[in-house]
Amino acid sequence: MQALFLIKEVNAVADCIFCKIVSKQIPSEVVYEDDQVFVFHDINPQAPTHLLVIPKEHIQSAAHVTEKDKELLGQMFVVIKNVTEKLGLDKEGYRIVNNCGELGGQQVDHLHFHVLGGRQMQWPPG
Ligand code: 5GP
Ligand code: ZN
Repeated sequence: MQALFLIKEVNAVADCIFCKIVSKQIPSEVVYEDDQVFVFHDINPQAPTHLLVIPKEHIQSAAHVTEKDKELLGQMFVVIKNVTEKLGLDKEGYRIVNNCGELGGQQVDHLHFHVLGGRQMQWPPG
């Protein structure tokens, strides 16, 4: 059972677009990286600035976060604060989005926060 889980996990990472972006097998426009967090521009931007903030470690979604990820998630929000300040988004504001699972509209199964800025956001979201 444990071995089966490990094989599935290894396959998930090997097939994951965002893991390939982290390892630079797939190129991206990198904005920031440290040992835990990676930030790059979305390939299909939905706002004048559209960043993706991801953990370097493969975590499938927000529904797969565990106790061990507490510090990592805190670091992701510190990075969002620093990067948005650096890009000057903080004055006017921005939106942080996480799509989780099928009904949440998640298309890439590697946890990520969208950071959207540079235009007025609407509510409710579609
Ligand atoms: P989701 O729908 O899973 O919340 O968001 C996935 C996001 O990843 C989408 O906004 C999509 O445009 C972006 N994306 C998918 N493939 C790539 C890629 O290869 N490079 C970059 N930079 N963004 C990607
Ligand atoms: Zn991944």
